[in-house]
Amino acid sequence: MSAEKTILAGWMIDGTGAPAREKVLVRIRNGVFEEIRPFSHSAVNPSELIDFSEYTLLPALVDAHVHLSMSGTIDQDIRKRQLSDDLETAKKCISRNLAQLLSHGVLAVRDGGDRNGYAQRYKENAMDVQYAAISLRVAGKAWHKPGRYGSFVGRALLKGRLADGIYSENRQIDHIKIIQSGLNSLTHFGKESLPQFHINELKEAIAVAADLGLKTMVHANGRLPVGIALAAGCSSVEHGFFMGEGNLARMAEMGIFWVPTAFAMKACGACVDEGGAERLVAMKNLECQLEQMTLARRLGVSLAVGTDAGSIGVHHGSAVIDELQLFLEAGFSIEEAIKCASLNGANLLGLERKGRIQKGWCTDFIVAKGSPSSLPESLNDIFRIHAGERFL
Ligand SMILES: [Zn+2]
Repeated sequence: MSAEKTILAGWMIDGTGAPAREKVLVRIRNGVFEEIRPFSHSAVNPSELIDFSEYTLLPALVDAHVHLSMSGTIDQDIRKRQLSDDLETAKKCISRNLAQLLSHGVLAVRDGGDRNGYAQRYKENAMDVQYAAISLRVAGKAWHKPGRYGSFVGRALLKGRLADGIYSENRQIDHIKIIQSGLNSLTHFGKESLPQFHINELKEAIAVAADLGLKTMVHANGRLPVGIALAAGCSSVEHGFFMGEGNLARMAEMGIFWVPTAFAMKACGACVDEGGAERLVAMKNLECQLEQMTLARRLGVSLAVGTDAGSIGVHHGSAVIDELQLFLEAGFSIEEAIKCASLNGANLLGLERKGRIQKGWCTDFIVAKGSPSSLPESLNDIFRIHAGERFL
């Protein structure tokens, strides 16, 4: 079987944010893009050509913020149960979530933690071979201050300093997740919660993580909690509602990623009483976040698409489409939005030569029906997915 394939792509989005190109010839060999150039009939043998002239090629997607041990169900009883499920039940839930991610072309995910560390244990000893194409990055259990928000996704630091906790825990994780603020209020619009960790403690913790070769994803909403996370040198700010222009400018300057998880707010708002006060606050929160995303784009912040899938109403896989739609609403072109869901995500996860259709890079890509104008909806029914050396 020849490992070489020659493809005619009707359109191609390369993952860099550059405008889509029409009629592109893509030659791949042994899991690597070998040649990408404008298509011309004379230069190829038609019998060897894979004709995707009615489709758009784009890099495989990255969801930079998920919670694999939870589903997006809005049934509160099931949600409660999922928090205390045993490992065997959790494994089934994680496998279902991975299947959904895979079918939506998501070939890399960064887990933001769960209270039992199940995603990490799944990766360590139960990763189903059928999901081997997915690069899974896990945090284990997130860290939060006792008495503060975070028990859904991790554990409190019971004694000592955060840096000591990070240093002494098991090392089968890919990054550290720290909760640095509360959740956004649904009763008081824009109300900021106090930071959880003092700047010195956070700085020290992030430095220890860096010594261990681990990046830090920091949950932070509000000016002060985000400001501290940035000053402490985090790798990415998660959510970042109400952080303000100063923090956005700082983020652009420092090259720190922002994962705005806007759809999670929209979904949360849809779960509370229609016409009620909480619904209104949620919608205003979302509006504010979209304005921040518009500003971030102008300031040159590196954004990554992360869905917070596993939150209420946020379903693994399809949520990437929902989040991409909000990027478009915030003024991103589809190519720019795809960049946030491919190259930027791959960079944040430390995936080498992934997230871009480029000579010499890995051949993880999606074949979506129709032209780029069908995106992101066309990701609901993907024609083919190529991972490594084969079509799945
Ligand atoms: Zn989360």
